[in-house]
Amino acid sequence: MKLETFKIQISGCVQGVGFRPFVFNLAIKNKLLGSVSNNANGVLIYIKSSSQTALRFLEQLLANKPQVSNITSHSMEEVSDMEFDGFRILVTENKEQIDIPLTPDFSVCKSCRAEIKDVKNRRFNYAFTTCVHCGPRYAITTKFPFERQHTTLYDFEMCSNCKQEYIESNNKRFHSQTNSCNACGIQLELRDALGNSIAESQQEIIRKVAQFISEGDIIAIKNTNGYLLCCDAGNEETVYKLRLRKERPNKPFAVLYPNIESVKNEFVVSKSEENALQSSVAPIVILQNTSNSKIANETIAPNLAQTGVMLPCSSLLELIMQALGKPVVATSGNIHGAPIISEEEEAQEQLKSVADYFLHHTLDIGFPQDDSVVKFMDEQQLILRRSRGLAPNYLEVKTILTQPVLAMGSHLKSTFCFVPNTYTYVSQCFGNLDSYDILKRLETTINKYTHLFSALPKQILIDKHPNYQSSILGRELGEKWGVNVLEIQHHKAHFASVLGEHDLFNSTEKIMGVVWDGTGLGDDNMIWGGEFFMYENQEISRYSHFEYYDWIANDKMATEPRLSLFSLLKDDNRDLIKDKFSDTEWKIYTKVLKNNKLKTSSVGRLFDAVASALDMVDFNSYEAEAAMVLEKHALMYTKGSPIDLLKDMVYNKLPSKVIIAQIIKLYKEGVSKEKLAFSFLYTLAQSIITIAKKSNVEIIACSGGVFQNSILVSILNKLARTEDIQLKLNRKLSANDENISFGQLMYHQHIKN
Ligand SMILES: [Zn+2]
Ligand SMILES: [Zn+2]
Repeated sequence: MKLETFKIQISGCVQGVGFRPFVFNLAIKNKLLGSVSNNANGVLIYIKSSSQTALRFLEQLLANKPQVSNITSHSMEEVSDMEFDGFRILVTENKEQIDIPLTPDFSVCKSCRAEIKDVKNRRFNYAFTTCVHCGPRYAITTKFPFERQHTTLYDFEMCSNCKQEYIESNNKRFHSQTNSCNACGIQLELRDALGNSIAESQQEIIRKVAQFISEGDIIAIKNTNGYLLCCDAGNEETVYKLRLRKERPNKPFAVLYPNIESVKNEFVVSKSEENALQSSVAPIVILQNTSNSKIANETIAPNLAQTGVMLPCSSLLELIMQALGKPVVATSGNIHGAPIISEEEEAQEQLKSVADYFLHHTLDIGFPQDDSVVKFMDEQQLILRRSRGLAPNYLEVKTILTQPVLAMGSHLKSTFCFVPNTYTYVSQCFGNLDSYDILKRLETTINKYTHLFSALPKQILIDKHPNYQSSILGRELGEKWGVNVLEIQHHKAHFASVLGEHDLFNSTEKIMGVVWDGTGLGDDNMIWGGEFFMYENQEISRYSHFEYYDWIANDKMATEPRLSLFSLLKDDNRDLIKDKFSDTEWKIYTKVLKNNKLKTSSVGRLFDAVASALDMVDFNSYEAEAAMVLEKHALMYTKGSPIDLLKDMVYNKLPSKVIIAQIIKLYKEGVSKEKLAFSFLYTLAQSIITIAKKSNVEIIACSGGVFQNSILVSILNKLARTEDIQLKLNRKLSANDENISFGQLMYHQHIKN
């Protein structure tokens, strides 16, 4: 039988996931000659076989692909005859433009976890144990395609044992680019706050770290994605010490548990939550507290009834948690408002007054990232922060752009979106750009991307707000590269992000967009935040919004819920809250209100006002504190039926002041905080349905930070179902400003006006 040569191209997330070794073994099993290599589009395979065998080979390949890979497309064609003397894995240098997804970091796999605990295994206690299925990828990438010399692991030469594993086709570390061991690999180093080295042997270091944590010390631990600050979660005094040193009075900390059993002992964990905790992403999952909790809840997440929980995502954390056997607070290693730290010197310097000890290691981190955060509502995942394990790809959207585009995103939950090829890369969340260091990290990462993909943008998209640091940087880059810069309105970008996620731009039906958040500059130069849009035929128009109320005292309004309440009270009612202010403040704000011109429709501030009216929070010590405390009270309302605060009212624009007046009245009459908090959310959900029905739409798309409130979303889900209305939400992206960069791109690609 005559043998022909076939070329198979596989595209998608196929590099750094064990794809070449998998193809090699499959080819050997089928007794095929040929080669496999990484190329600019993914994985390239040549085989010599009959056409029937080639088809069968491709079928087997697609059916049994490595579990952490993701194939987006594949092709097979016959090419001119080639000669092979066996089947080989080829290591490639790439000259072409890269067109593949960036592989995210993977949590350490089950079998690697077992190896580091097995005294007889040669990786016993090795803190950087990985294999083709697990370990850091994006964090250590310096170049493409994914080869060892294109990662920061290249500094470590494999010992003879590791090399042997690397070349044995039946070994789980066959062609594992992150392969290393105790003898040749990454070394741990333990130092005190003065920089003195403490323990020598790797085993001793792990033991000491566990001991220090048990004794109430705070340790800065360099994980594979950046530093974490850790301390005993059961020790209230220590957690409080961490709060003081970090100058973080109330913002909740995440807690790292040793294993899934220990989580289940303290929380009610659903199947989806359990799966998420143990997935290759290993995010922080927000769980409901129970009375079994053994950690210092009130200090870890003050005034909340939920805790952000995670499991060890690296061999290092696995070893420490095994030695310790109890939960630890694990929060990003940074000082107030700064980005997560990833370098030893920086850590010793910046965290010297926070941490008592420092656990460093010798692997460079190219792309430091925070941990991702998710929560579940009716078994459906809501992403709160999209970072390690999830960023930087958005695989579902293949773009049709003819030239590279860079979207700069927002200001508070900063991300950027870059389209250098046919893939859309949405970066990790950087955080608040008020911090100079965060702004620098955003800029550095954008520059790294332009180098990784050898592409400069030909179009830059920015938010309409001229003072967002992302807009300012976008204009600077536009000037530097001589590129056109286009402004896109904040809430329209939010709406476009959901339309894009659900591929709705070709919908023949009109779609109502409901975009509620804290702030964004509107087309009329007012501060929008409670918006209703209509999408039809590639056009977005503002359909309705919450009634405007006064925006006073600039940025203070967002940090002091009492000011939102002050502004939202009707004139004859305002005196009711006089005791929340000093006499001087009262005089000033009354005067400010009289002369104020700037108006807002912000729902975020309406949440603040409700929290203040119900005496929950008058000052926010972190963003969205009032909304989170309000959600906690609403969660406690489990029996009875909620009150529709706008019942029987006819309105064109949603009357925020009526909602507040109703709440104040009922609160005075003795209705509980819990019932009123729940009724407020119920009223908001009901109002969306009322407006949708009035305008005859059957699809609603919701976005903006307010839609991270799981009770609101849950009520809305139920109401929509009864009315046969389809509800679309951000799924792969967070509902908050993290999705703005992607929304800007979608708006630019699909909207005419
Ligand atoms: Zn593994
Ligand atoms: Zn080795």
